[in-house]
Amino acid sequence: MSVVYLGLGSNLGDRVSYLRAALDLLIASGEVAIRAVSSLYETAPMHIADQPAFLNGAVEVQTGLSPLALLHLLKETEQAVGRVQRVRYGPREVDLDILLYDDITVRNHELTIPHPRLAERAFALVPLKEIAPGLLLPGTGASLASLIPAALALGSVDLVQGPEWYGVGS
Ligand code: ADP
Ligand code: MG
Repeated sequence: MSVVYLGLGSNLGDRVSYLRAALDLLIASGEVAIRAVSSLYETAPMHIADQPAFLNGAVEVQTGLSPLALLHLLKETEQAVGRVQRVRYGPREVDLDILLYDDITVRNHELTIPHPRLAERAFALVPLKEIAPGLLLPGTGASLASLIPAALALGSVDLVQGPEWYGVGS
């Protein structure tokens, strides 16, 4: 079993419902168990400014899937929840990214772990630090706390809801 941190994002429609539906489907797959859920943060869009604000969070999961098999499950889940393909960095109903997978590094045409833009994205680092405060990034050994100030200068995040957004009966 591996411990994996996933980044969650949505900036269209009922954003929380899309994120809940994605986690529900991951659990229903039987391949993923959720061990921790972060608060949700609102984030101004980074690469394409003219689109709605994002809601972002992170979860810690346990899985027996390989990194590539997990990526494929995440892509299937995005589709099942209702993600429509649009321009890169554009609006999306739901985005599920692999931030970290144990302490491994992966780099191929389909998958890069740690996520290639993790170190510069406060909307990924801040929820990640909330659920894994002592974590060090594989490769560089950088702590999340050491990366967050520079990332916040690129784009700030606003706490909107505590971790109860995904809970029993949600
Ligand atoms: P974004 O980069 O904004 O998340 P997409 O969700 O459309 O954009 O993902 C584009 C591609 O990024 C995916 O099809 C996937 O092959 C690739 N990718 C590379 N590394 C990762 C990762 N760590 N997590 C998720 N997708 C990744
Ligand atoms: Mg993605």
